[in-house]
Amino acid sequence: MTELTNWINGQHVKSTSGRTSDVYNPATGEVQAKTPLSTVEELNDAVAKAVEAQKKWGATNPQRRARVMMKFGQLINAHMDELAELVSREHGKTLPDARGDVQRGLEVVEVCMGAPNMLKGEFTDDGGPGIDLYSMRQPLGVVAGITPFNFPAMIPLWKMAPALACGNAMILKPSERVPSTALRLAELIKEAGLPDGVLQVVNGDKQVVDAILDNEDIAAVGFVGSTPIAQYIYGRAASNGKRAQCFGGAKNHMIIMPDADIEKAADALVGAGYGAAGERCMAISVAVPVGQETADKLIDALVPRVEKLRVGPYTSDQEMDYGPVITAQAKQRIEGLIDSGVEQGAKLVIDGRGMELQGYENGFFCGPSLFDNVTPDMDIYKEEIFGPVLSTVRTDTYEDALNLVIDNPYGNGTAIYTADGDTARDFAHRVNVGMVGINFPIPVPLSYHTFGGWKKSAFGDLNQYGPDAFRFYTKTKTVTARWFSGIKEGGEFNFKAMD
Ligand code: NAD
Repeated sequence: MTELTNWINGQHVKSTSGRTSDVYNPATGEVQAKTPLSTVEELNDAVAKAVEAQKKWGATNPQRRARVMMKFGQLINAHMDELAELVSREHGKTLPDARGDVQRGLEVVEVCMGAPNMLKGEFTDDGGPGIDLYSMRQPLGVVAGITPFNFPAMIPLWKMAPALACGNAMILKPSERVPSTALRLAELIKEAGLPDGVLQVVNGDKQVVDAILDNEDIAAVGFVGSTPIAQYIYGRAASNGKRAQCFGGAKNHMIIMPDADIEKAADALVGAGYGAAGERCMAISVAVPVGQETADKLIDALVPRVEKLRVGPYTSDQEMDYGPVITAQAKQRIEGLIDSGVEQGAKLVIDGRGMELQGYENGFFCGPSLFDNVTPDMDIYKEEIFGPVLSTVRTDTYEDALNLVIDNPYGNGTAIYTADGDTARDFAHRVNVGMVGINFPIPVPLSYHTFGGWKKSAFGDLNQYGPDAFRFYTKTKTVTARWFSGIKEGGEFNFKAMD
């Protein structure tokens, strides 16, 4: 049994709390490691050390900090397979998917190599007689990142790379279910030249999170996870005077118009609905065909594709489409929601409940499920299922489909499949969702744009990564300066110069 540690001042440090959380191998159901649930004192001590380390790091010029990012990026690339294996071992996702997890994090590190350019200030020459104005971006100090289980590499990298490149120190609190990748990334960034104490990984649960929210030396909190926790963290951080951006859950719809290429739409839905066992905040969980004929054609195209999905452990010799879900409780919750869908009158076209894999009977595998005739009052529509379940809500018109998306409380991602440019443009313009795909099922923006949902999918302003991250992790100071030599005449101000 591996006893995991914290990462403090550039070293693995054992927690003395005596409390731990189990880390499973989701494919076998076995406990393979224990995550320490650190104490409030351990968190406060890590923050105090980070405060000291940040002073020198914040004063290090941006180009030198960017060089650390450059080396870090090279090391992530060199250790890609090892990191992917770590991700798969604790999360359960397939190896190609785990490589994608690392890759999408690496791409944010790559953008942070350009930090000097992003941190350049603004200058107004001669804003008045002899007056110049300039703005500079300065680090916040110590900031915190609190991350979810579903992207063990990508989201810690989305948090740490911009925060550190901007000259902050970071307290990273990874998900207690998948902590090993973050610990390995901490080792790699040390090897890349990050001074000790600038990145502290403190493992834990609500106790440590609350201590982060109440610690006066933490200036900002970046959170990613479920909506109720995002809302809670946003409220408590903000009331303690911290800058906070908290990204929450999702219910992402894909509209399929009558003129869409149904085969392509069905392919996209299978990847976006069932990939990573549906445990993506950008997964499509609701298909919205417009018109009965479109709906019938779509279900006909989906059924053989969904039936063909291969579900298994990442260690399998054959290529799998997705792996187990994260815990036995997650599997139970997903199957409970499928039960409720049946009870509330939806048509379960493919039933993935009760899946058992030979040799992996204790693994947390869920077969793929497909629902038709789902209505917005059903729990399977209202809840974020976060499992391999696709619900179909039939609509009569484009306006009905659009309003369904608009009325949904979540607003992370959405997509439309259509051959008509006017409809696509109208959708992109009117929909109240943060990330929109046009004939593109999972519209996660590239790392030099920014990522963020609307409505209950995000609390606070500014998005993750890209230009917004450089704004979030710095504060702006604006100087108005006057030098008299240019405007003095005979010892008096020359007010004529102001005309
Ligand atoms: P979660 O909310 O359970 O946990 C996220 C983090 O919060 C973890 O580090 C956890 O330790 C901590 N936490 C959990 N309960 C807490 C509590 N009561 N008080 C304080 N801290 C607490 O989320 P999860 O299950 O790890 O991740 C899945 C969720 O994350 C899904 O809802 C998914 O949609 C969402 N997600 C959102 C995005 C996005 O960018 N919008 C990205 C990925 C995942």
